[in-house]
Amino acid sequence: MENEKSSLVDPCRLRIDYSTCVSCAACAAVCHTLALNMDALTLELEEQLCDNCSLCVYVCPTGSLYLLDDSLNAAS
Ligand code: SF4
Ligand code: SF4
Repeated sequence: MENEKSSLVDPCRLRIDYSTCVSCAACAAVCHTLALNMDALTLELEEQLCDNCSLCVYVCPTGSLYLLDDSLNAAS
């Protein structure tokens, strides 16, 4: 079981660049799974809730969010 990859769950590939994040919360506002939350002025990501939809990536005004592996173009 330990080597078995689930076909239903896509592991979170979202990453946050805190060096450029301005804590505007725009990303949290559009996240449909509530994976992003502002705790005080720090953005927090609950990876288990993220489905890699990339909505937050598109709305971030500072380009502080990105998906690893650029898997948007990955086949199958
Ligand atoms: S990629 Fe989608 S689900 Fe994941 S944190 Fe961003 S908006 Fe939410
Ligand atoms: S939208 Fe971008 S700048 Fe704003 S809180 Fe999210 S990661 Fe930070």
